[in-house]
Amino acid sequence: MSHAPIPNGADPLDLLGTDTLLTDEERLLRDTVRKFVADKVLPDVGEWFDAGTFPKEMAKEFGALGVLGMHLEGYGCAGTSATAYGLACTELEFGDSGARSFVSVQGSLAMFPIWAFGSEEQKQEWLPGMAAGDLIGCFGLTEPDSGSDPSSMRTTARQDASGDWILNGAKMWITNGSIADVAVVWARTDPDGPDRGAVRGFVVPTNSSGFSAPAIHRKVSLRASVTSELVLEDVRLPASAVLPGVSGMRGPLSCLNEARFGISFGSVGAARACYEAALAYAGERVQFDKPIAGFQLTQRKLVDMMVKVQRGTLLALHLGRAKDEGTLTTPMISFGKMDNVRMALEVAREARSVLGANGITTEYPVIRHMNNLESVYTYEGTNEIHTLILGQAITGLQAFS
Ligand SMILES: Cc1cc2nc3c(=O)[nH]c(=O)nc-3n(C[C@H](O)[C@H](O)[C@H](O)COP(=O)(O)OP(=O)(O)OC[C@H]3O[C@@H](n4cnc5c(N)ncnc54)[C@H](O)[C@@H]3O)c2cc1C
Repeated sequence: MSHAPIPNGADPLDLLGTDTLLTDEERLLRDTVRKFVADKVLPDVGEWFDAGTFPKEMAKEFGALGVLGMHLEGYGCAGTSATAYGLACTELEFGDSGARSFVSVQGSLAMFPIWAFGSEEQKQEWLPGMAAGDLIGCFGLTEPDSGSDPSSMRTTARQDASGDWILNGAKMWITNGSIADVAVVWARTDPDGPDRGAVRGFVVPTNSSGFSAPAIHRKVSLRASVTSELVLEDVRLPASAVLPGVSGMRGPLSCLNEARFGISFGSVGAARACYEAALAYAGERVQFDKPIAGFQLTQRKLVDMMVKVQRGTLLALHLGRAKDEGTLTTPMISFGKMDNVRMALEVAREARSVLGANGITTEYPVIRHMNNLESVYTYEGTNEIHTLILGQAITGLQAFS
């Protein structure tokens, strides 16, 4: 049996030619975000990570780029396809998971619920400013004692005789919390009230009396991202602060699905950054009189990384096309989030070993991505929770509790 000839001129960064699966418009958008990341993120992100900061001014830069709430229609949003949003996430996370997290939280977790479930007044008040990056949003679901099981939340919303809402509780691990102008906070209503204890979403201006958002320090992951606690002490809000269009856990979970979709693309960007760094390094680093890329063991690592990045790209694109066609399901989103983040973490760890001692410094992007991906592995549904969603999908048996 004859073998096909070994192709010459293979693109080491896209051996399968996945680029041909994109439209001209998608390639243009992808290249625009790629250039933005090269110009505005990559030169400084190592320092942001070292310093544990994310410059608030980047919000306006993202707004000018058009990526904030980019897949939403109207209210100053770009109204792109879901696939285009995903491609932007890939490029942003090639820079840093912190940059992609900022954009995901703003668009998918803060703007999306206002856009999907908000009143016309809420949309007019917040969305145009958020799309422009003039206003920053955050999403408060997780609590100190309520993580993977958000329905166990203790934050309460009580409506008094005047119709005002009074919120009390604490949220934990909230991205953008300390720099936000507005927080979408999920709280449990009074069991004896008209909502019968259902979880409702509230649009909370962060200058409300009784609201504070102390930053969480000493992180060694996602350092180029602000993570905070939200403290709500008798925060009084008008009756109009509730998101009228949703009641129950469907509200926060539908936002999470939006963000998880973005992560299935974003994680491919982090993996690609690690693979590219390892490939370049292996070509230049000489030991035993030849580039380490010439050793079989190194080639095995590079090929494994390349195959994983390409497979992850195909998976993300498939999900993007399905979302645009309206056929994307929750288990498919879990598949993408779970498998591509796991893939990215494996690629990052392998790339780290190729860089030897240099792999442990932030002079190179690899360990920054590797550490970041530990957060991405946990947030937006941990790897285990997505495994259980998929387990339920294929067996029909619920194993969460
Ligand atoms: C950097 C960062 C940013 C974040 N940003 C936000 C944000 O903006 N807004 C927000 O609301 N939240 C945010 N989070 C919180 C994040 O969503 C939670 O950390 C996540 O849901 C997991 O909750 P937990 O950390 O309390 O872990 P836990 O739920 O306590 O889980 C601990 C471990 O137990 C496992 N586990 C739990 N239940 C089961 C089960 N039934 N079966 C098997 N294993 C199980 C988990 O998978 C995990 O391995 C962020 C987190 C991080 C790290």
